[in-house]
Amino acid sequence: MKENTKENDVWNQKGSIWKSESAYWNWIRGQLRRASSRYPIKNAFIRDNRHRLDGGYYKNGKKKTMWGGVCNECSGSFKMKELAVDHIEPAGSMNSPDQLEAYITRLFCSYDNFQFLCTTCHEIKTYQDIQKIRGVVIDKNDAVRGKAHAAMVKLKVTPLKKIMTQKGATEENMKNKAHRDAWLKAFHNIWW
Ligand SMILES: [Zn+2]
Repeated sequence: MKENTKENDVWNQKGSIWKSESAYWNWIRGQLRRASSRYPIKNAFIRDNRHRLDGGYYKNGKKKTMWGGVCNECSGSFKMKELAVDHIEPAGSMNSPDQLEAYITRLFCSYDNFQFLCTTCHEIKTYQDIQKIRGVVIDKNDAVRGKAHAAMVKLKVTPLKKIMTQKGATEENMKNKAHRDAWLKAFHNIWW
């Protein structure tokens, strides 16, 4: 058996495009996820659960076909492009060969493990799932707040300053990025 030296690691070999082992596993996960977009059981779920929406008419009077579905979380009706086909039990992560089998089983899962979620509900659930991988169990309300906080950090400076002023931040709090980040962090802890 070959020793697991640096030379034997494929991500270090000639022709490798990967800068590290984690980049290599990231690539493998990406390829598997691409394959899962054509997963026949997932496609069957979509076909069974989508419904026709009123898409209006073509110029020649023919009715347009538009597909949509219902979000399993908020029960709203959405166009297909606004819906994600979510894994109820998430596919999670995979960073080494011994995790491969479990990852494939979760990614190429049973029909019952699929649900439609609208973009917003999906973002919230994804946030919860990521926290879970990190070992933090987070309830839905906290996930909504976490998303809101993350969105606030990403805001352009002008709208961010406007919101900060409304929440009682001083000029000093808004002076530069480091000050704003520190204030947002503290604010996040107090307000939420
Ligand atoms: Zn929803």
